[in-house]
Amino acid sequence: MTTAAAALLASLPSFKNEEFLDFTDAANRRAMEEALATVGGRLGREYDMVVGGRRLKTDGKITSVNPARPAQVIGVHQRAEAEHAEAAVEAARVAFAGWSRVPVVERAELLLKVSALVRERKFAFCAWLTFEVGKNWAEADADVGETIDFLEFYAREALKLDGVATPIQMPGERNRLRYVPLGVGAVIPPWNFPLAIMAGMTAAAIVCGNTVVLKPSVDAPTIAAEFMKLLEEVGLPDGVVNFCPGEGPGFGSAIVAHPEVRFIAFTGSKAVGLEIHESAAKAKPGQIFIKRTILEMGGKDAIIVAADCDLDSAVEGVAASAFGFSGQKCSACSRAIVAAEVYDAFCEKLQARVDTIKVGDPADNFYGGPVISDKAYQRVLSYLEIAKGEGRLLNGGSAIEKDGGYYVAPTVVVDVAPNARIAQEEIFGPVLAVIKSTSIDQALQIANSTEYGLTGAIYSGSRATLDRASEEFQVGNLYLNRKCTGAMVGAHPFGGFNMSGTDSKAGGPDYLLLFTQGKSVAEKVGGATVKEAMEEELMGI
Ligand code: NAD
Repeated sequence: MTTAAAALLASLPSFKNEEFLDFTDAANRRAMEEALATVGGRLGREYDMVVGGRRLKTDGKITSVNPARPAQVIGVHQRAEAEHAEAAVEAARVAFAGWSRVPVVERAELLLKVSALVRERKFAFCAWLTFEVGKNWAEADADVGETIDFLEFYAREALKLDGVATPIQMPGERNRLRYVPLGVGAVIPPWNFPLAIMAGMTAAAIVCGNTVVLKPSVDAPTIAAEFMKLLEEVGLPDGVVNFCPGEGPGFGSAIVAHPEVRFIAFTGSKAVGLEIHESAAKAKPGQIFIKRTILEMGGKDAIIVAADCDLDSAVEGVAASAFGFSGQKCSACSRAIVAAEVYDAFCEKLQARVDTIKVGDPADNFYGGPVISDKAYQRVLSYLEIAKGEGRLLNGGSAIEKDGGYYVAPTVVVDVAPNARIAQEEIFGPVLAVIKSTSIDQALQIANSTEYGLTGAIYSGSRATLDRASEEFQVGNLYLNRKCTGAMVGAHPFGGFNMSGTDSKAGGPDYLLLFTQGKSVAEKVGGATVKEAMEEELMGI
């Protein structure tokens, strides 16, 4: 580790997750109402595309709207098309020459400055999240908190990575293992954690010395544009992050396929992740490397409710996991697998609990909000029709008319077969399938019977059952006697098995390795210094 990196790391407080805001506190409530009013006055503005520090306009525009009242425009954005990919990648390529040589200390400090600004403007970011993607106040705060956590965590991890120990020193040599940046990357986030995941993937890439083309989701470009403003405010050099809102199939696929894009950090659906994986695998003319893909995809997450569990906790955990942010989390519980002995009691309690969920405008802090878009709304409604033929409706089952918003009632369908479509396919909305199981063996078999493997939970009072689930429940993030949503940076490194992705473990100690390549430099004692050798090599990347 360089002395400066060691000194900075030593001077920082240990990483600690950002505390959640308590909205029962009158001061916090007032601050959120004020932020909604202030940000509400800034809606509908036009944002630029930013390439190499230049602000650009395109003929085509992307209009982002409030899913709770689609007549309200949140932001108007430039629409990057495939032909803009070349300039964006070129700007990132040019910036890489300088940024890859900026000491890690400066890169880490930059993340910490951004983190401080996000914290300072926390309520405003919450308000943007409420307006653009329909998060209630606590969900918005969790997204902002996770953003701060990613920035703080990756700043520290980058400093640690700089000081990684070389396992063996050969006699007569000085041996050094370094992790160097990859090059230009494409960062392609989803809309559902439009601040945390977007900022997290971007921060991880740049703190390691890479430069990126950031293509936010067309459903949430304004939040990304507001984040981009912070990067500019703290003095990120031009071209390190190139902000290019665009459609996936046009601009997105063009940057993925570009021969100079060395890696793709993607979070989104299985279908798109696989498409990116396939495109990235095909070497293009002029391409001199194998592209790396970091792909975090969908889920069909299950909670097992064993007969010996605390039933009230299980009901609460299932309801919160299934209907928090209207089921639009990759970690959301969409299957409850319930022991036959407690099945009827569980269903009765769950029905009563779900009946308490109030649906309305997230700006007014209703627990249940809209789904993100008309497309999502139509998809969820079509699954409700399928659901009616695959089980018995316990709650919901229909749209809710309000301000033209994309509201769907929290829906619970019981007596669903494990292989039913609503028990196998990711719906990404407030729809829960309840499945009966007759043993823990069968419950685990059902839990593992989808192509996904992202999160899961089990409620049981038995140590042996919990231990067994720890071994046999095939998911990247397993929770025992708690809900399956709400992963915390550092405590629950996040990423899934199977078709849920490459298990990249965002917020974990290995994550930054994905954005680097290891380089071993062996120096015969008496030759050029290790530092000089490393610098010469870096020039040639
Ligand atoms: P999506 O796959 O539709 O889009 C994700 C991103 O990919 C967007 O920016 C989109 O514009 C872009 N894209 C679309 N087609 C593309 C293409 N052909 N080439 C390049 N880019 C393209 O997903 P979404 O609707 O934004 O998000 C919801 C999905 O994300 C769900 O499946 C959810 O489970 C998943 N998700 C996973 C995680 C995780 O950590 N595993 C976290 C959040 C969301």
